[in-house]
Formats: sequence, C-alpha cells, structure tokens
Amino acid sequence: MPRRRNGLLTLLIIALIVASAYILLNPQLEAAVEVPITTIQQQYRAKEIKSIKVEGSSLTVELKTGAKEKSTRPAGETLKDLGLSEADSDVVIQAVDNTGSDFWLNVLAGIIPFVLIAVFLVYMMRQAQSHNQGAMSFGQSRATVVDKEKNKTTFADVAGANEAKAELVEVVDFLKNPKKYTSMGAKIPKGVMLVGAPGTGKTLLARAVAGEANVPFFSISGSEFVEMFVGVGASRVRDLFKKAKRNSPSIVFVDEIDAVGRQRGTGVGGGHDEREQTLNQILTEMDGFETGTNVIVIAATNRPDVLDPALLRPGRFDRRVVIDVPDVKERNEILAVHSRNKPFAKDADLEKVAKQTPGFTGADLENLLNEAAILAASKSQKTITHEDLEKSIEKVALGPEKKSRVLNEEEKIVTAYHEVGHAIVAHMLPHTDPVHKVSIVSRGMALGVTWYLPKEDRHLASESRFHDELASLLGGHVAEELAFGEVTTGSSNDLERASKIARAMVTKYGMSHKIGPVIYGSNHGSVFLGKDLMHERDYSDAMANEIDKEVKVIVETAYTTAKSILTKNKEKLKKVANELLKVETFTAEEFEKAFGEKKAVAKIKPKF
Ligand code: ADP
Ligand code: MG
Ligand code: ZN
Repeated sequence: MPRRRNGLLTLLIIALIVASAYILLNPQLEAAVEVPITTIQQQYRAKEIKSIKVEGSSLTVELKTGAKEKSTRPAGETLKDLGLSEADSDVVIQAVDNTGSDFWLNVLAGIIPFVLIAVFLVYMMRQAQSHNQGAMSFGQSRATVVDKEKNKTTFADVAGANEAKAELVEVVDFLKNPKKYTSMGAKIPKGVMLVGAPGTGKTLLARAVAGEANVPFFSISGSEFVEMFVGVGASRVRDLFKKAKRNSPSIVFVDEIDAVGRQRGTGVGGGHDEREQTLNQILTEMDGFETGTNVIVIAATNRPDVLDPALLRPGRFDRRVVIDVPDVKERNEILAVHSRNKPFAKDADLEKVAKQTPGFTGADLENLLNEAAILAASKSQKTITHEDLEKSIEKVALGPEKKSRVLNEEEKIVTAYHEVGHAIVAHMLPHTDPVHKVSIVSRGMALGVTWYLPKEDRHLASESRFHDELASLLGGHVAEELAFGEVTTGSSNDLERASKIARAMVTKYGMSHKIGPVIYGSNHGSVFLGKDLMHERDYSDAMANEIDKEVKVIVETAYTTAKSILTKNKEKLKKVANELLKVETFTAEEFEKAFGEKKAVAKIKPKF
C-alpha cells in the first residue's frame, strides 16, 4: 500500500513541475509593455498592428515587428467606439472569453501548492496509521459480532466434550429463559471460564453457545488488548461491554484471557500496567452488571494456573468448564464430524485412526484428515485410502518426513543401531507401550524414530512405567556405546528427556524413597509467567543437592537396565539393525518378527 502511495506522490510532483514550467514559459504571458489606449489607436491607424486580443477590458496587441503591448479599454466602450474595428482587414481581432484558460491556469497555479501540501499531510497520516493500526480508533473495541445466520455453529459441530456441553447447555438456557431462573431467586452466572489444552475446541464451544442461544456474540482475544497505548485496553473493554449490554441478551467472549488475566505482580518486562488496567476494567464491568443484565461472559484459557485469583472469585468467572483432550470414543466422534465432506475408500478405517491417536486434540484430528485429503488429491486419487490416513497420523505426530535429508552410510548404520536399541529395551520391559514403528527415515529434527503406541488411553503413570520408559529412552545411547565403543550427539534429546522425567519423579511425583512424598518447587516450567525467572526456591541448598543425587541414581539405574538387556541381546541387536538398514522402516509386526520374541507385558495388581 505505501508503495502505491509513493507512486501517486511522485506523479503529483511531476504534474506540479510541468504546470509551473508551462506557466513560466507560456508565450502569452510574456511580459508585454503597458501602453495607453491612445498609443494603440495611433499604431492602428499607422497599420503597425498585426493582431489584437481582447479579454474583457484588457487588450493584448501584437505589432508587426513582433513586440507586444498591453492596454486597458475604457469601460463601456467597444472596439468600434475606439475606432479599432475590423475595417482594416489585415488586423486579426480575437475575442477571448474572460473565463478562459489563462484565468484557470492562474487559479490552478495558486491552488496547486496547497493541494500538494494537503495531499502530503494526508499521506503522512495514513502512513503513520498503517504503522500502528488503531491509532485513529483506539477507544473502540474491535470486538467482532459473529453473523448469526452465516457460519452458525451449534453443539452438533462439537463432537465429544459431553460434560462441557452439558454445563454449557445450562448457560444457553440462562440466556434463553432468564425468567425461569430469576423467579426462583437464582442469580444467573456472569462468567464461564473454559479451560483446556490448545486445540481442544474452546473457541468452537463458545461459538456453539452463541449459536444455540441465538444471541449476539462479541468476541475479542486477550492478546488484542495488549497494545500500544496505556489505557487502550481498558477503554476497549468498556466499549465492548457497552455494546454487549445494548444488545443483551448477548455473549462476550474473551479468548486467551491469560494474556491479560495473569497474576498481577509476577510479569517480567513491559506491558504490565496495561494488562493490569485491562484486567481491572473487565472485573469492574462484570461487577457492575445490574441485576437483569443478561450478558454472560465466556473466557477461554489454556493456562488456568497463571490466572489471577481475582478472576475466579464468585460472581466473576465462577463457573469453570474443563475441556479434556478427547479419549478414544470422542476422537471417533470428532473424526466423524470432520470426515463428513470427504470421500473415503472402503479400506479407510477411522476407528483404527482414533485408536492410534492418543493425545491428539480436535484440532490435530481435523488437521490429520485435511493432510490425508491433500495427500490423496496430490496423487490424483478419487478417495482417501487408509494408507493416506496412516501417513498423515505420522506427519501430524512426528513432523513431515525429510526425504531430502539423506543420511550417509555411516550415519545410517549408527541410527539403525540407535533406534533398534530403543525398540529392543522397550520390547523386553513389561511396563512400556508396545513399539509401533521403527524407522531411520529422518523427520523433523530427528534422524530416526522409534514410536510407541499405548493399547488404550492412559491417565495414570506408575513408577515402574517411568523406570522402564527411562531405560528404553537410554537404549539408543547404550546401543551406540556397545556397538561402536563410543556415542554420538544423536542421543542428546533422549538424555534431556530422561533427565526431565527423572527429576519430575523426584520433585513432583514423590517417587523417590529417599526424598519422600514431598513436592519441591511448585509451578515448574512457567517461565512464561516470569515466576520461575525470579525463582523462589522453596527448598534448601542441601535438599537441592539431595534431589540432584537422586535424579542421578534413577537415570543410572535405567542405564544399567538398558545395558544389561542389550548386552544379553547383542546378536539380535546386530541382526535387527542390519535388517532395518535394508528396509528403513519396520511396522510393529515386522519388528516383532525380526526380533523373534513377543513383548513382555505386566500389569499392576493389588498385593492383597
Ligand atoms: P482452542 O480454542 O481450544 O484452541 P479451537 O476451538 O480453536 O481450539 O479448535 C480448533 C479446531 O479444531 C476447531 O475449529 C475444530 O474444527 C476442531 N475441533 C476441536 N475440538 C473439536 C471437537 N470437539 N469437535 C469437532 N471439532 C473440533
Ligand atoms: Mg482458541
Ligand atoms: Zn533416540
């Protein structure tokens, strides 16, 4: 946009230069000698005149010599009265309209500079505005009202999430039949906080509430509040609520409220006061609803832990609706919703896909189906096959394959041993998930991958599971060490994850007998908040020392386990790795066949 404006400006400047040049060089405006009218009359009689130009009362005379003269005709007298008629036929008499081009040229010459200055000013202002959107409209909320008829979302579009929906059905009823509740003396809740991981459908649900209740839906995102001028956020909130009240019953939806609703006094860096003021304004508005104001505020966040407690007080966002990552049944339903307009081949088994995607959110599943459709289309298929679906699961879960990053022979061999090392240790330990796939095709950041898949969704992790998982994480590192006598940098990610798990076991889950069931350093990993940066460690240096020691013991135990398993299965490690080098990818069955042994399985049982 600025580029085109620059072009316009250049054009204007050129036009100005041309115009002034024209004015300056115009022969008609050449200085002519001012003479009395009697001189003209004399020259006329002496036949010295070539032409006379008449413009109102002024005469411009060109002599036969080429010289020019100017004179003024006395008021009320025609040329004839002055004896300057065309009787003498070789004098050209030319009458020019008073409002002719010269007049306009003069006017234009006077105006152009002002026009130019005005254009320039407007241009500057536009520029400044486009640089900081909203400079001209800062007080106004940019809340969007969702068109009720077009793209209307209903609960039917939200698959699974049944508990959340049940809670929200009530909210819809409040909006539709407020009397029913107020006549009972019940207070209609003012705020609902939707809590859930990114992509679990919070925004979708909020829209569905508005669609079901058939009321205006004012939506704004928390991140929009945090803008350039202090006080803008607060005045936007005021404006937003004013609009919502005017259109009540209505819904105000504040998406990503954690952007403004973080605990006060913990942030790092700027933008702090702004946030506080915005937050205060939201609270003030919510407190200020008169009874009977039928506006419900729905907020969404994926960081309930960082919210200011003031937001969650009764009378504010006192209703909390938690949206979980979908379980296998819900994944099935979500896949069904998003596969409605896609043609599938007979072999496509969405139930199998649902089983293979624990931890996927609604957004991930939608993305998965979309990837599968793109893949099928790029191969000019008429329908989406199961193979396309499988490929897309991998793509969404692990990142796209990097066919272009070709490993050299040596890297391939090391990667094969490394991955098979992971797989064998996991296969031999009873508390790990079964190996789903082993591959030395690089993806994302990883050179190879060993992918485990639980038989069913899991909500609890036991101590033995952690120990076994740690051992299989170290399996890659150990395999390299055994096979090549040294290790490569390929294990650094594994080691990092292992250390994290071990530390969490000690400080978070009370799984270290030495340290005991005490949690150390609450609120881990919330650097986002700024809390961890100003770290208040709630334990002593001596305890930190103990924790470090315990973490080390846990990791070393896992290392020993991995080493003993792989040492015992050295020959098999070599054989399976060599086979993997040939085929590059093993499925679960292929791996089991190559290894020649069934997976060890154990379940936790009550001891008495
Ligand atoms: P959030 O706001 O929780 O981050 P969104 O509501 O933006 O997530 O969800 C992103 C997309 O994922 C939605 O537009 C929708 O297509 C899909 N999605 C998420 N959850 C579901 C669900 N339960 N049913 C159907 N689609 C879903
Ligand atoms: Mg969202
Ligand atoms: Zn590894």
